Amino acid sequence: MALKAEIVSIGSELTSGWSLDTNAPWLSRALGELGIAAAWHATIGDDMADHVAAFRIAAERADLVLTTGGLGPTQDDLVREALAKTAGVGLREDAESLAAIEALFARRHRAMSPRNRLQALLPEGAEALPNPVGTAPGVWMTIGRAVFAAMPGVPNEMTRMFAEQVVPRLRQRHWVERVIVHRKIALFGKGESDVEADALDLTARGRVPEVGITASQATISFRIKGEGLTQEAAWAQTEETARTIRDRFGPLVLGEGAVDVAEALVEQLKRTGATLATAESCTGGLIAHMITAIPGVSPYYPGGVVSYANQAKTDMLGVPAELIRAHGAVSAEVAAAMASGARERFGADVAISATGVAGPDGGTAEKPVGLVHLGLATADGVQTRRLEIGPEQPRDIIQRRSAKQAMNWVRVTLLERPDREASR
Ligand code: AMP
Ligand code: MG
Repeated sequence: MALKAEIVSIGSELTSGWSLDTNAPWLSRALGELGIAAAWHATIGDDMADHVAAFRIAAERADLVLTTGGLGPTQDDLVREALAKTAGVGLREDAESLAAIEALFARRHRAMSPRNRLQALLPEGAEALPNPVGTAPGVWMTIGRAVFAAMPGVPNEMTRMFAEQVVPRLRQRHWVERVIVHRKIALFGKGESDVEADALDLTARGRVPEVGITASQATISFRIKGEGLTQEAAWAQTEETARTIRDRFGPLVLGEGAVDVAEALVEQLKRTGATLATAESCTGGLIAHMITAIPGVSPYYPGGVVSYANQAKTDMLGVPAELIRAHGAVSAEVAAAMASGARERFGADVAISATGVAGPDGGTAEKPVGLVHLGLATADGVQTRRLEIGPEQPRDIIQRRSAKQAMNWVRVTLLERPDREASR
């Protein structure tokens, strides 16, 4: 018989709808990867009778019960007492837990309130689950047919306790016999349907390892699921597929994990040692913002200009006023001049520019909303690209897409350059 798990999320902030339960879905996915299905999710408020009722039901129907929340030091944190009540046992103070809580307050140079001492209470027969990042230890105990693991509500305390304390105990019981790993490879620069059409053999049903494809904000991700008896075996199962994806999609591949275009671009700047300047009109500094959101970029990003008005394009970047008059601010010519101006003024190896109609107003038949010109200046000269993101798109999407397309153009350009060491 397959094991059945129940996840109980605790807190009146959840039942009242004021905060979102992220713990239960996280735990369900984590259990799923270990081959244990979550058969039930329950959510209860901070009420003792409701705790006991829910724990009784779970103790009867589930093999494993994971609870989150309700372990804090305040009066609405009822889990320890409710577990004891459900099991029909008393509470005892756990010396090790008390010492850990005292040590945590000492490290933070804070006085410990008497209420925190209550967090060292455990139901008779229970085992404490150490919490290295917070005051509340978790609780591990058997009630009825079920094993209960009570964990803190704070997500980072919960995920750590689950991985470090709960999973090893599940393995000890031989409840976990396999390991599942998910690898994600992110792509940018082509539509989802185009990528999918080139990957039908990979995404075919029943293929081992399984490959899924998802798209979020123009980034396409392949997810490879590997399975094995050990972490290494599960990983090894994904290797060939990962290599196939990298080979087949080449320059579209941003990298592995939750990597985005900006991160992949900065990686290329670091690899090649190139410096980049930006000249932005319709993106209003978004490219600069996304680049500077990546730590460690300062040696490679001297800066950028947000030249929104025509005058600013002339004053800050040296775009000739007659050029703007002749072609309009949204034109390939102006994009080129903005990029050249930024490259020169910042003394950068590469400069990227964007000028376009972000909407919702200001579009014409000739220059509709969503029309964006990019310019890319390098030592070899300046090139431009025309994007048509679509007049139906909202302003923020037009801005974000053009910023990402701009960064991706620089990234792909740098891909062809040698490593900085090689070029010295
Ligand atoms: P508690 O352990 O009940 O004191 O919860 C501490 C904090 O953890 C709450 O104030 C929430 O911010 C967070 N939290 C509790 N339960 C959840 C949950 N199911 N999902 C996400 N965050 C939670
Ligand atoms: Mg709570």
